[in-house]
Amino acid sequence: MEFWNKELETLKSQKLRQLQLERLKKTILRVYQKVPHYRVKFQEAKVKPTDIKHLEDIHKLPFTTKEDLYVDYPFGLVALPVEKLIRLHTSSGTTGKPKAIFFSKKDINNSADIIARCLVMTGAKRGDILQNSMTYGLFTGAFVMHYGAEKVGILVIPAGPGNTERQITLMRDFGTTMLHITPSYALYVASVILDKGIDPRKDLKLKRAYLGAEPYSEETRKKIEEMLGIDIYNCYGLTEMNGPGVGFECKYKAGLHIWEDNFLMEVINPESGEPVKDGEIGELVLTTLNREAMPLIRYRTRDLTRIIPEPCKCGRTHRRISRILGRSDDMFIVKGVNIFPQQIEQVLMSIKGVAQNYQIILESYDEMTVKVEIDKELFDGKIERLIKMKEEIIDKIRSATMVKPKVELLEPGTLPISEGKAKRVIDNRTI
Ligand code: ADP
Ligand code: ZN
Repeated sequence: MEFWNKELETLKSQKLRQLQLERLKKTILRVYQKVPHYRVKFQEAKVKPTDIKHLEDIHKLPFTTKEDLYVDYPFGLVALPVEKLIRLHTSSGTTGKPKAIFFSKKDINNSADIIARCLVMTGAKRGDILQNSMTYGLFTGAFVMHYGAEKVGILVIPAGPGNTERQITLMRDFGTTMLHITPSYALYVASVILDKGIDPRKDLKLKRAYLGAEPYSEETRKKIEEMLGIDIYNCYGLTEMNGPGVGFECKYKAGLHIWEDNFLMEVINPESGEPVKDGEIGELVLTTLNREAMPLIRYRTRDLTRIIPEPCKCGRTHRRISRILGRSDDMFIVKGVNIFPQQIEQVLMSIKGVAQNYQIILESYDEMTVKVEIDKELFDGKIERLIKMKEEIIDKIRSATMVKPKVELLEPGTLPISEGKAKRVIDNRTI
């Protein structure tokens, strides 16, 4: 098993906690001195930096929410003078307006170092060729991965998303061994490769892909792994915490390691703000422990997950979280039932004959319509097969969500293709 920084990655738990505490104290002191917004918040909560003596004392500190990032926008939470900042990124704005995040030179180096750990953890090394099909631009996804891969000595093809024909040409011409791509676009690219009669196992050199930026299920992972004959690793991150690499799977693909020397993680009950019991599902809250330009304290990610407390077989001591179950903002309510789009995705991807694209349409609070593309051959066959398929989808979604959906079966290519983050739920409800 390869390591990028074996000493840090396998640091004994007690030492890791010590390092976290040192870094936490330093971070708290810095924001108290440098960021008026935090000083005021700490004073309101009647807590001083010297009150933080143990890691558990973090509970005394107030949360930082997405809304706090708009206070004194855009430089409000920055802890360095502008001349020390070298990069701006904003979140992709899936929900609400974009949030500005700044990096110092040290932050850029550090985020690349984190990615280097992640990539090496999956077996990537010099000689690999990474096709980076995430969006280059304000979004962190492509840049942070790009710098990290270069740090390992991997050849990076900055393809960006879209132009699927060209993506495939690049793969063939340059012998791409790894992809960094969203799950929704990966499904599409895989289907185009197969439609063209290319045998990915023989005609391409692809070995692995890093899929992230949006939630997806184990079923989707398996489906793409089988289509392309590769290993898929889950890659989690958010702009507010540097972007990709906050959580990353190792070769065992059993949860995502969080680099605890860089992030202090908590999982809380989103309603009460209290910590959940070890291993229970809740909202992930992160504190940066090693960030210069824009430290964030107890940042509410809105992403739902649970900590996997058991040690990992790979030997890394940094704890893991489960695959993100959804973001609380994604949840929608039909007939009084809370539903996450991933519950529907999971059902669809487990059904044979379902193709790569689907959409959930909400017109009223009593009904949801699931539009789903299915394999072309099914439309050429007997009508009974289509009826059976529709019934199977309705039944399985009903048992997963407790709401009986309307289902429309569509030919492949009917729904809009997503190249970046997919928009799976179209909510047309006005009140
Ligand atoms: P936005 O909130 O505008 O989408 P980002 O582009 O920073 O901003 O996206 C970060 C969010 O994307 C995360 O908070 C999470 O909800 C989602 N995300 C990123 N990677 C994954 C992943 N591997 N699995 C599930 N969700 C993910
Ligand atoms: Zn591991």
